[in-house]
Amino acid sequence: MRFMNIFVMLIFVISVSILAQNKLDVIVLDAGHGGKDPGTRGVRSGVFEKDIILPITLKLGQLIEMNYPHIKVIYTRKTDEFIELKERTRIANSTGGKLFISIHANHKKKEESDKSGTEIYILNRDRMTEAVHITMNEDISLKYSLYGNDTTDMFIFSSLARNGYFILSSHLSSNFESNITANTPLISRGIYQSGFWVLAGASMPSVLIEVGYLSSETDESYLIDQKAQTDIAEALFSAFRSYKRYFEILY
Ligand SMILES: [Zn+2]
Repeated sequence: MRFMNIFVMLIFVISVSILAQNKLDVIVLDAGHGGKDPGTRGVRSGVFEKDIILPITLKLGQLIEMNYPHIKVIYTRKTDEFIELKERTRIANSTGGKLFISIHANHKKKEESDKSGTEIYILNRDRMTEAVHITMNEDISLKYSLYGNDTTDMFIFSSLARNGYFILSSHLSSNFESNITANTPLISRGIYQSGFWVLAGASMPSVLIEVGYLSSETDESYLIDQKAQTDIAEALFSAFRSYKRYFEILY
């Protein structure tokens, strides 16, 4: 009985610590690839993935900054530079990011039939614990300042965080899907759970979106258009706005 009381109190204290941390004040935008890593390539124009997704990412960031001046937008890259995968999530974690959005474009494998449209990925539940532990180990000062050196606290924290991240990431991915399909000609190929390292490394809700297939002539000719890039950024922004409302109701 006494143990249960202590346990309930512990849960309460940890939940309050998490809530206090969970202000949606820092968003991390990750334009995939860059520099010597061009990503995939358009079949018709030869355009590089890195050059399509950077303007979409920058436009999305501008919209967030303009509409929510109190939100700090962190970019893993703002220019055509090469950033290691690990460095991307290190940036996200060390800047106190509360949401990680990674933007890419896709390419079908030779043996696959013609594919087009967006695909959205969130981290699968199996890798969530790992994701939290990566960061708990990475950011020693955060770990000690919040929880001391107590493995029970850390275990409960990681379980709570894991479920919270999954729910929030799922919510944002559905918003992305509905806004993209409603506001652009891109079709949705679905939302998937994956173990992508870039998602596992970020200890926060995280979503990776493949905005279309550069191996599809239809998608490619759409994606290289500046107006289309703006439309996609606006659709992603509307999705973010709904996510923000949902987040504020939850917390
Ligand atoms: Zn990519």
